[in-house]
Amino acid sequence: MQSVAFETLGCKLNFSETSSIRRDFANLGFRVVDFDQTADIYVINTCSVTNDANSSCRKTVRRALRRNPDAFVAVIGCYAQLEPEEIAEIEGVDVVLGAKNKFRLLDLFDDFVKQEKTLIYNSDVNEAVDFHNAFSSDDRTRAFLKVQDGCSYKCTFCTIPLARGKSRSPKISTVIRNAEKLVREGYREIVVTGVNTGDFGTGTDENFFMLMQALNDVQGLERIRVSSIEPNLLHEEIIRLAASSGKIQPHFHIPLQSGSDRMLSLMRRRYKSGLYRQKVEMIRELMPDACIGVDVITGHPGETDDLYQESFDFIDSLDISYLHVFTYSERPNTHALTLEPVIPVPERKKRTHQLRRLSAKKRYTFDTRFSGQERLVLFEGENKNGFIQGWTDNYIRVGVPFNPALENKIMPVQLGKQSRDGFLFGKINQELLEQETIISSLTG
Ligand code: SF4
Repeated sequence: MQSVAFETLGCKLNFSETSSIRRDFANLGFRVVDFDQTADIYVINTCSVTNDANSSCRKTVRRALRRNPDAFVAVIGCYAQLEPEEIAEIEGVDVVLGAKNKFRLLDLFDDFVKQEKTLIYNSDVNEAVDFHNAFSSDDRTRAFLKVQDGCSYKCTFCTIPLARGKSRSPKISTVIRNAEKLVREGYREIVVTGVNTGDFGTGTDENFFMLMQALNDVQGLERIRVSSIEPNLLHEEIIRLAASSGKIQPHFHIPLQSGSDRMLSLMRRRYKSGLYRQKVEMIRELMPDACIGVDVITGHPGETDDLYQESFDFIDSLDISYLHVFTYSERPNTHALTLEPVIPVPERKKRTHQLRRLSAKKRYTFDTRFSGQERLVLFEGENKNGFIQGWTDNYIRVGVPFNPALENKIMPVQLGKQSRDGFLFGKINQELLEQETIISSLTG
């Protein structure tokens, strides 16, 4: 049987989708190998959030062809939907599949042989109306469960609606079936993921709060984490459910993009800074130990020095835990291209560095606040420089001396100082671990 290798660029959603396509190939008997090994077929799931994403796709295609110049190369996903012709110009690409067709490789091809000419299966993104279930099952501890796709918002800087189509989601019952399957496969944590996750159920009689209530009732599921949720969709009932649930982890990643109200309206975001502060304060009141992550874009057209300073001061004044900072990059067919003034790239980068320094400060303050305390950690498997690592409930990275018996275990850990690698050293109650190991060996 032919061998196949996969490479994913971009977000958690892309990883869950690649993982599902990989399972389909494996279920048909294809031999799945690592991307850096020689394979008969290479599948690259792409991203197009920035220019860099496009160039890294091209580099990845060349990496595959260096391994096996005769390999069948399929490029799928967001970049494939937005720039199919550009990809078809890359020497050696056999097929390009956009949003509607990216799950149809096995329907479209019986045998994966090199094509004379690159085949493009692409259509208007508005035809991508189906919801394809997906969940990642690569890492043995946490699974990314796709619950929503596409986006119907019109943020000025964003191409995702052009790459993935309008917002859509399955029935809650479908998501619960997938979650129960993951629990049966031994996953201790499910990361609920999507493009605009909080928009789950839009246009139906179901919504994100109801989904979280249903997930909260899944037997055997110990941890639920929400990958990201828009501030205007993070309703009070969702925060209160998380505060009382015990399963929904005290960790919220909430895109802000700018702390200036003028910029938020320029970006066509659906809230103002006041609402954002309200959500942060409500979380802090109900879950004082919660981790709050924030997405910010620097250098969006219109972001004068004053508006940037206003944004910086707002972010600095928030009791949050870390930032993901993105430098604005021009994307084709986005409204931001028509806005002024355009901020010079060096200035954008200077602002990004400044906010990343602020993020490091906030992260250090947040993490070390828990030094000396005990938190539950879900341990992954890898031995990283003699340490086995994992995340606490409130999303702090912790490491203890490597012990394979800890893999996929949720253990109380005494948190210590911060290591040079950024994780907190932890101390395990050995007696408890021995008991745990005996129990799991008895219960299998
Ligand atoms: S909410 Fe805005 S930034 Fe997020 S995916 Fe939708 S359009 Fe893009």
